[in-house]
Order: sequence, then structure tokens, then C-alpha cells
Amino acid sequence: MSGRILVVDDIAPNVRLLKAKLEAEYYDVLSADNGPDAIEIARQSVPDLILLDVMMPQMDGYEVCTHLKNDPLTRHIPVVMVTALDQQEDRVRGLEVGADDFLSKPIDDVALFARVRSLLRLKLVMDELRQREASGRALGAINDHLTCFSDTKAPADILILEEDQQRGERLARKLHDQHNITLSFDPREAAAKLNEKSFDLLVINLVARGFDGLRLCARIRSSETGRAMPILALVDPDNREKIVRALDVGVNDVLLRPVDANEFTARVKTQLRCKRYADTLRQSLDTTFEMSVTDQLTGLHNRRFMQARLEDALTRLEHGVEPASVMMADMDFFKRVNDKWGHDAGDRVLQELARRLKANMRAVDITCRYGGEEFVVVMPGADIDAALQAAERLRASVEAERFDLGSEQGSAPLTISAGITELCEGDTHQSALIRADQALYEAKEAGRNCVRRTKTTPARSATGA
Ligand code: GH3
Ligand code: MG
Ligand code: MG
Repeated sequence: MSGRILVVDDIAPNVRLLKAKLEAEYYDVLSADNGPDAIEIARQSVPDLILLDVMMPQMDGYEVCTHLKNDPLTRHIPVVMVTALDQQEDRVRGLEVGADDFLSKPIDDVALFARVRSLLRLKLVMDELRQREASGRALGAINDHLTCFSDTKAPADILILEEDQQRGERLARKLHDQHNITLSFDPREAAAKLNEKSFDLLVINLVARGFDGLRLCARIRSSETGRAMPILALVDPDNREKIVRALDVGVNDVLLRPVDANEFTARVKTQLRCKRYADTLRQSLDTTFEMSVTDQLTGLHNRRFMQARLEDALTRLEHGVEPASVMMADMDFFKRVNDKWGHDAGDRVLQELARRLKANMRAVDITCRYGGEEFVVVMPGADIDAALQAAERLRASVEAERFDLGSEQGSAPLTISAGITELCEGDTHQSALIRADQALYEAKEAGRNCVRRTKTTPARSATGA
């Protein structure tokens, strides 16, 4: 995995050393020897990761980090604080200003590259989400305020897997004022709980003698439900190999034992903040997607979605899987509804028609508003006779019951006309819709409130059968 890394340190030999190590692994390296320059470079070239020295004259690393994390342009860039002092207070202070990780000087190569890889991997996922969100915003589907990091005050569901009851309870106590904690002492039970519901964070002891925590982490990472759940692992500081493997397997963060209470809660907070940010992005993407395939007035699918499903139906037909038909239906004399009772009454009628359309079609049918007062239904698996029955059922249900026009307007009897056609080999979605539209035109010509079908399906005539 390549990436662009900004190295910030006031001592030139430190910068040179890190630069050489990173470039040897094919990372693209930028550098700065003071805080203000670092902020400027970060804003201009938006690197994938920043290695930030804590002790610098003028502006120290904490201050630089605070700036970076408060700026919408740079707040998503992971920051690793590089500190000469291996003090808990420094780590906690760093986490509080938004640092994502720490390395202590002298920098150990194995730890360096494990951290770098794991943070770059996380950033890749975030970037993808951010990019898709940006296109959602361009479509007008997403509000601007969604992009900031969500606050972490709301309680989260956290699962703690420990081997030792006392230690587990000690961890739980540090979090249970703010969060809902589930404590488990058995990996099989923990796996079952993870299947039952989704958690916002897993805290797992990787030094347990009774079970292989790494194996569980790997399994979670390859599962559909656990892929997005952050994992915070407890490890022994002298087991470097395990730390590296944990990060490679996809553990998001490691905490060295003995556990410092403040560092523990700060790291939990960091993980939850990331998780919530990603969740918010995913949710807004779901909304964007939903909006991009739905007609706002009726809640039916829109034309774009219908065309794609029509293409699917054509592919299945061409592979000999099943036939399919398509119906185009149109309100009769709908203009009069608007003219006589107003546009709102017209909208209400369209909504009610959509409801009847859905009620009369099968779950597999794709019901769409094609535009105005025209509707299209794609009927997978239906030949022309089945389609005719369905269309006739719909037509009858429209005629059978008057349409409500709103509180003071009463109701009106309305009808529809419909044209149907069976899909045939060589069709495109356009050619199928043109035939359905011709049949609809014939229904209108025949006096409305009726269904017409194309006489022969072109498939049979095309193959000469
Ligand atoms: P025909 O039986 O030949 O289909 O006659 P019609 O009056 O239904 O057809 P025409 O195409 O002349 O008029 C359709 C009307 O549908 C005109 C337009 O104002 C109205 N319309 C289109 N979209 C909407 C909408 O979203 N809401 C409302 N209230 N009216 C709409
Ligand atoms: Mg009409
Ligand atoms: Mg029309």
C-alpha cells in the first residue's frame, strides 16, 4: 500500500532518518521542520498520514494537532504523535487533541510500519466513503452538517472479552458510566453475542492463555457484520510480534498492559468517534441511494431504476431463465382532475393510484412512476397472458372505487388505460417501452378504461416461429 506521508520534526537528522526509512518502503514523503509550515503543507497537499513530533519550539505537536483536527480540510488525516517521552499523560493529552496514534523515539521500524499500514488502510475506507458522500452532496441529497465528526456523548454498545473476571470487571467499570457494557469471558460466547446484535466496539485481551484472540479478530474482520466494528486489543508491550500481527489482521488500535485508565478511556473515545463518523457517512449514502431510485411523490421506483431492472429482465430472458412482460398505464383524462379540483387533488390521486398499483402487483414486480400520470410495471416471470390478467386486475381496481380528492372536495370516479407487451430477444429497454406505449395508445384510441396488448410478440416473429 503506498501513500503520501508528512513528517514533521524540528531536528533535521530525525526528518532525514524517517524519510529514508519510509522512502525505502516506497512511500512518498513530505517534510516540515515547524508547526505553521506543517499546517500549511497539510492543507495544500492533504497527505494520507502525518507523523508529528511533539516537542518543537514555537508551536508544539499538540497545538499543531489541534489545528489540523479543527480544520475540515485536514481533520480526516490520521496523525501519529512521535514522542521522546513515553509518559501516559502525554499520550492522553495527544488523544484528547485528536491524535490517532503514538510512536516513541527512538522509532522502532516494525512498530512504525505496522502503525502506518493500519492507519493508511483505515484512511482508504474513510476516503471512499467521503468521496461517495461528496457526490451525494452534489446531488443535493446530503446536508452539509453531516461531515463533521459526530459527538461521542451518546452511549455506545461495547463488548469486552477478557479471560480473567476481575480484570474484565475492572475494564467494564471504567466505561459503564457512559456506555452499555457486555462482558464475556469465553470467545465462543462472545462470537455468539456478536452475531446476535451489532456492537460499536470490541475490547479484546490478546494475551489470554485460554483462547486465541487473534483468530477471533481475523474471523470478525472477514464477516459481513463485524467488518466495520472497531477492535481495541490489549497486548503486552514486550510482545512486539503480536502487536504487529494484530494490526495486520485488522485490529484498529492496541493498548499496552498494564492498562492506564485515562489512556484506555481516551482510546475508546477515539475509536467510537471514528466509528460514528463512518456510520453517519454510510447512513447518508443509504439515503442518497434511496433518493436516487425513488419517486418522491408516490414512493414508487423512478424511471432510472426501472430501466436498469428492465435490462436485468432482458438478460434473464436471453439466458433462457424466464420470460418477462412490461406494462405502461396512464390515467384517463387526468388533466381534468387538475383543472377541476386543483393540483393538490391531482397529487393525491396519483398517490392513491400508486397504492393500488402496488396492492395489485406481486412483490417481484417493479412498480415505477414513469413520469406525470404514467406508470410502468416490469413483470419478471410473466408471459403476455399473465401480464394481461395483472393489468386487467389493476384496471378493475381503479374503476371499482372512487378516488378521494381531499377533505372538501369529495371524491371522483377515475379510470386508467394500459398497454402491455412481452419482452423478446433482441429487445432493448427502449424498444420494449415503445411497444408498451403503442399498446397504450391503442387502448386510448379504443375509448380508454381498457387494456391492450401487442398482437404478436416480436420474439416469435423474429425467430420465424
Ligand atoms: P389521456 O386520457 O389522453 O391520458 O388524457 P390526460 O388528461 O390524462 O393526459 P394529458 O397528457 O393531456 O395530461 C396529463 C396531465 O397530468 C397534465 C399534467 O398537468 C398532469 N400532471 C403531470 N404530472 C403531474 C403531477 O405530478 N401532479 C399533478 N397533480 N398533475 C400532474
Ligand atoms: Mg392521461
Ligand atoms: Mg399522459
